[in-house]
Amino acid sequence: MSNGWVLPDEVLRDAPAYTPRPGELADLELLLTGAYAPLTGFMTRADLVSAQRRGRLTDGTPWPVPVTLQVPATLAAGLDPTDPGRRTLVLTDGEGAPVAALEVVDVWTAREGVAGVGGPVRRLGDGGHGPFQRLRRTPEEVRALLPPGRVLGVIADRPLHRPQLAQIAHAARTLGAHLLVMIPVAEDGQGGLPSEALVRAVFAARDRMPPATLVAVPMPRRRDEISDALLRARISAAYGVTHLLSTGEMLSGAGLRVLVPRELAYDNRDGQWRWREDIPPRNRRLALSQEEIEDLLDRGFPLPEWHTPPAVAKELSRARPPRRHRGLVVFLTGLSGSGKSTIARGLADLLREQGDRTVTLLDGDVVRRELSAGLGFSKADRDANVRRIGWVAAEIARHRGVGICCPIAPYAQARQAAREMALAAGAGFVLVHVATPLEVCEQRDRKGLYARARAGLLTGMTGIDDPYEEPTDADLVIDTTGLDVEEAVQSVMHLLTETGWVEPRLQST
Ligand code: ADP
Repeated sequence: MSNGWVLPDEVLRDAPAYTPRPGELADLELLLTGAYAPLTGFMTRADLVSAQRRGRLTDGTPWPVPVTLQVPATLAAGLDPTDPGRRTLVLTDGEGAPVAALEVVDVWTAREGVAGVGGPVRRLGDGGHGPFQRLRRTPEEVRALLPPGRVLGVIADRPLHRPQLAQIAHAARTLGAHLLVMIPVAEDGQGGLPSEALVRAVFAARDRMPPATLVAVPMPRRRDEISDALLRARISAAYGVTHLLSTGEMLSGAGLRVLVPRELAYDNRDGQWRWREDIPPRNRRLALSQEEIEDLLDRGFPLPEWHTPPAVAKELSRARPPRRHRGLVVFLTGLSGSGKSTIARGLADLLREQGDRTVTLLDGDVVRRELSAGLGFSKADRDANVRRIGWVAAEIARHRGVGICCPIAPYAQARQAAREMALAAGAGFVLVHVATPLEVCEQRDRKGLYARARAGLLTGMTGIDDPYEEPTDADLVIDTTGLDVEEAVQSVMHLLTETGWVEPRLQST
């Protein structure tokens, strides 16, 4: 579609730039590498409607799932498909580096304030950055590497343990096929496993595989299993796969065959993995579930050798160390004067005494001075403040420290965003609701704020004339009325040791 499309420098220089969302960026990468061939750009309205109604593009090519780009309506207003000087949109990665130019041939209103833009894309720049870039081969390069004959595709969206490896070996042998392992790298994998850790874990199993080609593919997830399965089949076919081994929900639809493997179990008579039904119940051990694997890692136990090759187990325990060594965000929320800062300080002191991890206290007032100067107490400003705190705390925790936050954080959505950032950083997140009743907080009135609010000298005071959304997802609720500070701090410490985030210690000194 981009034939003869020459983009003058001045058009490119003056073109507006936009950073698509992560899923759209992954789609973009697949468009640029030809993995979505014959699609060469984001769909126009006509293609979108046609794909949704008939499962085909307007030209009749079967295409299962929408591949679209949405931009703010304000940005779209400056684009004009009929004007060669105003129909180019530069698409950038999350860091703002140009990735591609989109020649806009269609613009429409998707919903209030959001526009759809469609048209062919062309790569700008040198083809991207990121860990394991060299594994991101294009479908064309990969097809050239594959031997002739059948190709068994496996989408390794989770580490390969012995049962999966046995299934793969069995399928490859039965088909007489070469193996192509595609590792999805667009987003973090299950349980917050970063995609580079997934790549390492899959490579660690390489010597247990039949002859194989391994590639990293930026596969977006559509949050809908059927769309995902259809797109994955499509992408696999572009990479030269003739038979796809199903992992979870899998559908055909791209001209390749999908194999649904039978469940394997471990036979303790001879240490082999074989069909579950072929083993007497007393001799069989079922594969560990994702939860069981995560639980073992969290508690610092090695994954058992009967289940996981030691090299894979080692990568996984590096990627998900035991909780006591992992980063942690402790987030205290509650009314002003409820006791958040006091408890946070006490907790920080105890953790520093233990010396296992570095501790950063992101206290409300300090944060408002250092990080959020200029922000007020409107909903938008409060949300921005909590977001900044959550972001910094998640980075602290990514580097295996403890970030203790104590903003009022009256809105559930902002607290949830902080939780998600911590989890995405591979860290823990513990929400403590300091639920001291308003009357008690007001009686304490440490900063004189309540008196001023009651006198009408201060507006937007949480609990007086501004809302506080009670958490429904708190890991701990503390009412400090009639509780001394020591007891309050100990209850948080108790929770952290109970849940394995902090190693239990005798407090002798
Ligand atoms: P916040 O940070 O929630 O605004 P502060 O920690 O600044 O609240 O103030 C809480 C006040 O309550 C302090 O004066 C503190 O000494 C007092 N207080 C009384 N009992 C407790 C308790 N068990 N935990 C925490 N603070 C308490």
